[in-house]
Amino acid sequence: MISMPVIDREKCNGCGLCVSVCHCKVLVLVDNIVTLIEMKKCLSCNRWCTLCEEVCPTGAISWPLEILIEEP
Ligand code: SF4
Ligand code: SF4
Repeated sequence: MISMPVIDREKCNGCGLCVSVCHCKVLVLVDNIVTLIEMKKCLSCNRWCTLCEEVCPTGAISWPLEILIEEP
């Protein structure tokens, strides 16, 4: 299962911190709200480094994790 970064447009204040830390250049500001332009590149370039989530001061980017528990 591939998880994707989820952007909460209501929380984004357009500060651009996530754009500046993204080495893969897949985040851009559109009308002052961050937008992910190339999901595949995020995966292949940095393997979902999650830096964008770490630096975001408003919690506008999150990575939903799915925990699977296997029965023995
Ligand atoms: S997880 Fe890393 S590579 Fe992907 S968008 Fe965020 S900062 Fe960029
Ligand atoms: S760091 Fe957070 S608030 Fe700033 S532009 Fe990125 S998503 Fe928006």
